[in-house]
Amino acid sequence: MDADVVVVGAGALGLSTALQCALAGRSVVVVERETAGSQASGRAAGLFKSVQADELRTRLARRSIGKAVSFAEWAGVPLAVARSGSFLIARTSQHRDYLRRELAQSRGWGADVQEASPAQVAGQVSYYRAAGPEFALWCPEDVYIEEPGSLIRAYLAACRLRDVVVLEHEQVTGISVTGSSVAGVETTGRSIAAAAVVDAAGGWARQVAELAGAQVPVAPVRHQLLITEPDPEVNPADPITRVVDAAVYLRPARGGLMLGGFEPEPLPLDPRAQPASFTTDDVPLDAGVLRQLAAQVEAEAPGAAGSPVAEYRGGLFTMSPDGRFVAGPVPGVAGLWVASGCNGSGFSSSPALGEALALWITTGDAPPGLEELAPRRYESMTDEVLVERGLWQYSHYYDPVGGSEMADSGRE
Ligand SMILES: Cc1cc2nc3c(=O)[nH]c(=O)nc-3n(C[C@H](O)[C@H](O)[C@H](O)COP(=O)(O)OP(=O)(O)OC[C@H]3O[C@@H](n4cnc5c(N)ncnc54)[C@H](O)[C@@H]3O)c2cc1C
Repeated sequence: MDADVVVVGAGALGLSTALQCALAGRSVVVVERETAGSQASGRAAGLFKSVQADELRTRLARRSIGKAVSFAEWAGVPLAVARSGSFLIARTSQHRDYLRRELAQSRGWGADVQEASPAQVAGQVSYYRAAGPEFALWCPEDVYIEEPGSLIRAYLAACRLRDVVVLEHEQVTGISVTGSSVAGVETTGRSIAAAAVVDAAGGWARQVAELAGAQVPVAPVRHQLLITEPDPEVNPADPITRVVDAAVYLRPARGGLMLGGFEPEPLPLDPRAQPASFTTDDVPLDAGVLRQLAAQVEAEAPGAAGSPVAEYRGGLFTMSPDGRFVAGPVPGVAGLWVASGCNGSGFSSSPALGEALALWITTGDAPPGLEELAPRRYESMTDEVLVERGLWQYSHYYDPVGGSEMADSGRE
């Protein structure tokens, strides 16, 4: 078998890159060890967020939202997207200042973000009762996808329309390198010759790069969420709410509420130190973490803290030391590319990130700004520093700029 491009991993990032390479006229094979979307991508909360910490991520996030809501137009396959908008809420003076800075920055980068009054929050969100001096931003562009599997199914259907071959239950076990260039992959079922191989293996991205003798340093970290049983008090049309000082997000889900968040002491989990059979199903869930996060918004969102839980789920983020994606050519092996370093936004940024990476792969020229995401930027970092910084990025997901000084600040 041969292909112009082989993509390793059928998560959101791999499938989006595969689809975009096919749209550019390339023959593409995707090889997936388990089933498409069965790992991190199938566990995602499905949230898209237009407010980001820098201009490049803002551009990618907003373009992704645009591509998600217009999926049928450019991909030829329907995709249901909840155009709910979102509130960003701060309850401490430090976080209010932080959101004011985000408001100014994000507007400067083109995002539609507005200051919202407590009355607006109260009027628009059935499940959140402002309990104090909230400061809120309204982000009308933000959307979510109710079930993450629907984006995966849409990518798969769009890939099949363009003759992309998706091989499931087949593991990439080797990457052949001739001289210092990629020549193809070995799988549990066959050899595939290809001049371009994309490592989109999520939490396993490091192992896959190592098959070519290359390094893709990312730090896998656990992330979890819960969905409550249906609750008649939750209006399913309500917006997303992100309470930045509590590092908690909420949205309507399956007639109840979804709650997820970022604990201050996250769990790093490197699959390289696990048995070869390790999958997302083996990531240990800790309901206590979610209970603690829910308790932080108990007064405002009692439904999230008090209702019976219908589902806990979790998986791995791939964190980078600067919180930015890791996408581009892998140093040392020509033709080896990576789409990783999701930092918790790989699901929602996959439409635009896959598009940009595919453009780079198929033309040889990096689209504007993409060079900044290439893995060479922290090539010489030790694992210890990588994991330490990745954990910091995780625990400061909503306040990465001023997070260190905020860590000690109590709630007002
Ligand atoms: C609970 C939770 C909630 C989240 N919520 C959001 C959210 O609201 N918004 C957002 O944007 N992001 C969210 N994320 C993050 C998001 O899920 C990830 O950023 C995204 O799914 C990463 O996609 P991926 O394609 O890199 O990884 P994955 O979906 O993990 O895909 C990688 C694939 O590679 C395969 N693979 C690995 N090794 C091999 C091999 N040797 N051969 C073949 N295949 C291989 C794996 O089986 C896997 O299917 C959430 C994550 C979790 C866990």
